[in-house]
Amino acid sequence: MDAYNQLISGYREFRTHYLKDENQEWLKVSGKKQDPKVMMVACSDSRVHPAILTRSSLGELFMVRNVANVVPPFDEGSDDSEYHGTSAAIEYAIKHLQVEHIIVMGHSGCGGIGSLMMPPAKEKAEEYSFIRPWMNIVKAASEFTEEEKAVMNETSRISVCEKRAILISLDNLVTFPWIKEAIKLGILQLHGWYFDIKSGNLSEYNWQEKIFEEIS
Ligand SMILES: [Zn+2]
Repeated sequence: MDAYNQLISGYREFRTHYLKDENQEWLKVSGKKQDPKVMMVACSDSRVHPAILTRSSLGELFMVRNVANVVPPFDEGSDDSEYHGTSAAIEYAIKHLQVEHIIVMGHSGCGGIGSLMMPPAKEKAEEYSFIRPWMNIVKAASEFTEEEKAVMNETSRISVCEKRAILISLDNLVTFPWIKEAIKLGILQLHGWYFDIKSGNLSEYNWQEKIFEEIS
């Protein structure tokens, strides 16, 4: 079966088992408005699927997936031709849905971060019009001092870069005035997650200790 038909087959199974057998309740409320408590910004990477790895159900996660789970800083811009897809989703999540948590989830082996750490040759880079400016939002994550380079090998630097990029996105979230306000009012919490694809382990950022800790 090819990849496309595999999806159609999966959809039929979803209709038969997931909706009919397991989620009768969801069918009853599906016509009403959505009311998720959590928004997640995750990478487009096919191996990192937020609903699967958290066993979430329909209606539970308000999702944005983009290259390298990046949140840009607040920028209303003056030009309507500027496209703020991620910011629009964040605005909707906060102002309309009033989510209580925003999670930024990064992961190991991220291609977007890889392009920051090992930039492609100039000719190759020019083939990509959108990735470079997008990844520049978190470029500072890939900058290491000579001292840091001396104590970290390339593999550790990539992993550190992936985690630092999550923190930059969390910082950028706070540049949105209504997010800052919601945090101040105690009605919104921000979380940083890091998913290690090889082990399947998930780590959570500890704001006090300033480190990512594995969730047991
Ligand atoms: Zn990624």
